[in-house]
Amino acid sequence: MARRPVTIVTGGSRGIGAATCVRLAAAGHDLVLGYAKDDAAAEATAARVREAGARCVTVRGDTSQECGVERLFDIAGAELGTVTGLVNNAGVTGPLGRLADATTDDLRRVVEVNLLGYLLCCRRAARDMSEAGGGYGGVIVNVSSAAATLGSPGEYVHYAATKAAVDTLTVGLAKELGPDGIRVNAVAPGIVETDMHAAMGDPDRPARAAAGIPLGRPGQPEEIAGAIAWLLSPEASYTTGTVLRVAGGR
Ligand code: NAP
Repeated sequence: MARRPVTIVTGGSRGIGAATCVRLAAAGHDLVLGYAKDDAAAEATAARVREAGARCVTVRGDTSQECGVERLFDIAGAELGTVTGLVNNAGVTGPLGRLADATTDDLRRVVEVNLLGYLLCCRRAARDMSEAGGGYGGVIVNVSSAAATLGSPGEYVHYAATKAAVDTLTVGLAKELGPDGIRVNAVAPGIVETDMHAAMGDPDRPARAAAGIPLGRPGQPEEIAGAIAWLLSPEASYTTGTVLRVAGGR
């Protein structure tokens, strides 16, 4: 029997991450679902994943902390076997507003979760997946944002800057890890209907933004999950180092 892919999705409990877990379960992956605080949301998504026939382990922890990331991968390996996929998705924005009004704590948190957290997860994935190191190779998908190229003035330039860094990380790491049998790509969503907008202080933001989106509406988490699942699939076997924009034309 062919080995099933074992894929870690950070921030897999809600929003884009949850849709990705459910989509990957249907595509034959076993899942490790990482999350920060909301146990009920994690268990609800894990139940949907198991209904789709996949094994699923939930791991609570902070991806901006080295110990949280090491524990996430250690549990993944112990419970489900050698990790072959990583979806780096856990992200935060802090409150909407101008840089001049942002607190240092908010700036630090956004950089630590969105950039340091992605780096820590990529580093451990590189170690675990490397064929030279005894792994099976694998695929990393970094969830970036259209903000990386739009800049997001007046909203969160600091968040946009971390996502631009994620794009650069993707390009460089793809070149570094190609010889190890590891593909690295990013998906850059536009405005997607998730709880993230309420968390940044503006739950109606997706509906209001619709007029400025060429396709005339915000995206749904499932539409981002489809792109992530494709990049993880054998269909994308020659695709590495790319940033796939899924933003309704924005
Ligand atoms: P969301 O609905 O707010 O969900 C965030 C997820 O990340 C939750 O599972 C949360 O867990 C987890 N999380 C947050 N901080 C964490 C940490 N430090 N350690 C571990 N897990 C953490 O977010 P989303 O809208 O789906 O966004 C997912 C990704 O897409 C992010 O990288 C975001 O920047 C990107 N994105 C989103 C949009 C959009 O419009 N929604 C657009 C472009 C890009 P808990 O619930 O337990 O806290």
